[in-house]
Amino acid sequence: MTLTEQLLISRGELENKLRNMLGKPIFLIEMDGFALPCGCSGATINTRGLQVDDLEVFEEYILKYLTDTAQSLGIDPSFVFARLIPGTSEIASLNLRMLCNHCYMDFARGSGKQPRPDIYILRFNRK
Ligand SMILES: [Zn+2]
Repeated sequence: MTLTEQLLISRGELENKLRNMLGKPIFLIEMDGFALPCGCSGATINTRGLQVDDLEVFEEYILKYLTDTAQSLGIDPSFVFARLIPGTSEIASLNLRMLCNHCYMDFARGSGKQPRPDIYILRFNRK
């Protein structure tokens, strides 16, 4: 199966799981695989309808679903986080990222679930 075929399947599965669990219309409007010049890679899932409250209440399950999604894409992300729209309770995207050493050092300096107002960390594997 190609990467894009797998992205299509994984997007649909994750959207269904989130809708069933949260009981409201969650839209995963785009799922992208990415590779950055620094060496980071992973997947970004742009969301509509997902709120910070949902993350706080269902974090354990959402992290599990995201881990399943990562596995289906053949990636093992050391960093799983949500990007928030600052000043709102809206989540803009969910991110599965395999950190390069440089970015690892950057994020390792921060602490807590929200080292920046636009980031909510679900998982950060310390080396
Ligand atoms: Zn990087």
